[in-house]
Amino acid sequence: TYVIALPCVDLMDKACVDECPVDCIYEGDRMLYIQPDECTDCGACEPVCPVEAIYYEDDLPTEFSVFTAVNAGFFATV
Ligand code: SF4
Repeated sequence: TYVIALPCVDLMDKACVDECPVDCIYEGDRMLYIQPDECTDCGACEPVCPVEAIYYEDDLPTEFSVFTAVNAGFFATV
C-alpha cells in the first residue's frame, strides 16, 4: 500500500484525492490518510503531492516509518 506521511500534516493539499482511481484517500482533521485495504498500489497519487508526503510503504524514509501504522490506524475500528 501507499502511505501518507508527515509533510501532509496541516497542509492537506488534496491533489492526490483527485488522482486516486479508487477514491481510497480520506480526509482527517490534520492530514489525509490512505485506506490500505482499498489502495491498489497504482502509484498515481505519489507524483502529484507537492510536498512529497506519499510513499510506497517499503520506500518510506526511516523517519516516516510510523506512518504506515498511522494511516491504517485511522481506519481501525475498536
Ligand atoms: Fe489511490 Fe493509487 Fe495512491 Fe493507492 S496508490 S492511494 S490506489 S492513487
